[in-house]
Amino acid sequence: MIFDPISKTILDQIVKASDGERIAEAERMKASTYWTMCPACGKKVTKRQILAEGCWSCGWQGTEEELELAKAKRASGGETRPADEASYKTKCPQCGRLVITKELGEKGCYICGWKG
Ligand SMILES: [Zn+2]
Ligand SMILES: [Zn+2]
Repeated sequence: MIFDPISKTILDQIVKASDGERIAEAERMKASTYWTMCPACGKKVTKRQILAEGCWSCGWQGTEEELELAKAKRASGGETRPADEASYKTKCPQCGRLVITKELGEKGCYICGWKG
C-alpha cells in the first residue's frame, strides 16, 4: 500500500469535522433538557411544567418516557420540525447533497428532485 499524505490529511479533517458536529449536537441536547416540545401540539414548553401540570396550550400530560419517545420520533424525522429549525440544512435522502430542510420539505431537492 502506498502512503498517501494528502488523502490522510483530508481524512483527518473529515474526522475533526464530525467530532465538531457531535459536540454541537451534545450542546443542543443539553439545552433541550429544560425546554421541550409538547408532543401533542408542538408548542414550546418547559419539561418540568409539562410533567407536573401538563401543556399550557393543549393540556397534554404524560410521563417523561413519553416525552423522550416523542423527541426520538422527531429526531428521526417522523414528524414536522419546529419553525426555528426549519432553516437548518439537511442531507437529501436520495442524492446526499446538503439542502435547506425547509426547501426540501416544500419544493423537494433542487439537485435530484427528491420529495418526501
Ligand atoms: Zn400541547
Ligand atoms: Zn437530492
